[in-house]
Amino acid sequence: MRDSQIVFLGAGKANVVVDLPIADLPSAPSSLRTSAAKMQRIALRVRRAAHKECAECYRALRAYAGCRDVITLGPALYNAIEAVVPPTHRKLITGATEATVVPNFASIPAHLLRVDVTAAEARGRAVDYAVEVKPKGAWQSPQVVGIVVDGETYWVEEAKRRHCRYGQMRCYKDVRDAKKDELPATMASAPPAHTEKTSSPSLPYCPNYLFRTSLSTREGLRRLMHSPQNNLKVVRCCPSGAQSPGGDPTMTTLTVSELCGVADAIDASGVLTPLSHLQLCGCAPPAADEPADVAADKQLPVLDVALLYRWSLAKDKDAVEWIMLPGDPAAHCSCTAPDTFSRALKVDEARRVRPMLDYETCKERFYVSTTARDVSLIIAVSSRRGAPDASTACSRLTGVPADVGGVFVQRGPDVYRVGVVDLDDKKHKTLHHYYLHDREIVEAFLNQHRTSLTK
Ligand SMILES: [Zn+2]
Repeated sequence: MRDSQIVFLGAGKANVVVDLPIADLPSAPSSLRTSAAKMQRIALRVRRAAHKECAECYRALRAYAGCRDVITLGPALYNAIEAVVPPTHRKLITGATEATVVPNFASIPAHLLRVDVTAAEARGRAVDYAVEVKPKGAWQSPQVVGIVVDGETYWVEEAKRRHCRYGQMRCYKDVRDAKKDELPATMASAPPAHTEKTSSPSLPYCPNYLFRTSLSTREGLRRLMHSPQNNLKVVRCCPSGAQSPGGDPTMTTLTVSELCGVADAIDASGVLTPLSHLQLCGCAPPAADEPADVAADKQLPVLDVALLYRWSLAKDKDAVEWIMLPGDPAAHCSCTAPDTFSRALKVDEARRVRPMLDYETCKERFYVSTTARDVSLIIAVSSRRGAPDASTACSRLTGVPADVGGVFVQRGPDVYRVGVVDLDDKKHKTLHHYYLHDREIVEAFLNQHRTSLTK
């Protein structure tokens, strides 16, 4: 096998993704044959253990996640893949006998669609790149603020009613990184992205910039670009020819106008609506034809892990009561509403109610939400560098074969493909694990705030 045809795309915590020509697959799945002419290359996700994705997240995001086909990994293909995987990641695939065919979000969108973007322009003017954005979790102030278990009352930490998880996580990471100066393995080896100076260099990112329509995705990405950590990366696209990852080899930065284009494409793709619902409610958004009571159930927010964990320990799970406060779903976290500190908490309005969902459903939804809060968006771009785009409207392209994967957005001569990756099921970790992790984050946050108040 011509192993030079296979390109290492990246590694996650439990899998490796490579790019290869369809011709190198001994038994290409039938669903690929229809689009084979367009998709010259595909991506293969390889891992040692059987792969499990969150079924609810996949269902809700299917248009963005694309097809999934499991194929048998014969020795020849396995060896060819192993030869291109860096030694540090080889243990992730040792002994793997099957792999999943997934959309290759590093393909150039214009080539996939055969939109003649590049030919009309002189070579070198067109730019093809992909941006990986991990937006992390949307935030709403919790409505269920306490739980009564076996006669004991447990409350949600008050900070969670004013500060989003992302804001707390920033403090937690500061404390953790001060302790040990090493970062966990990340999905891709691309260097962090940077952009030129904007008007707000030090303002922090908050996921709600993307998820709230009252805030701006452009502003969110600008802030993320200033402190990308592992949540924003620029990756070069693979040409659909047989070369190694190419495009513009110097492409590790984005200009402000490129960043705005990506933000607008994310908005136009519509991906944030189902993703935000998965995160906040732990299930897909209700369909239009569902009965009103079912739809109402699906609008209930995910229970905080501190309360869910207490529920899991109840001697009599059916006797548990929730404590609810009239919440304002439109209220902002402290990232975007500094006056949140002076906002009075109406604790006297709290009321005890029978749980509106049973324990098993709440637990299920917690795990769905946990997967959704870790999803990454991949936005691949075929663009004319420097072309003014703000005055042209984005339009979502229809008629793209579903098995290509991703939603395509066109703006003038530019094409954006918006996909999602990282839908891994989180159930291999216990509620107790998440409960302890949550405590660590909240305590790090509270400690830092106490410290800053006494300074
Ligand atoms: Zn926030």
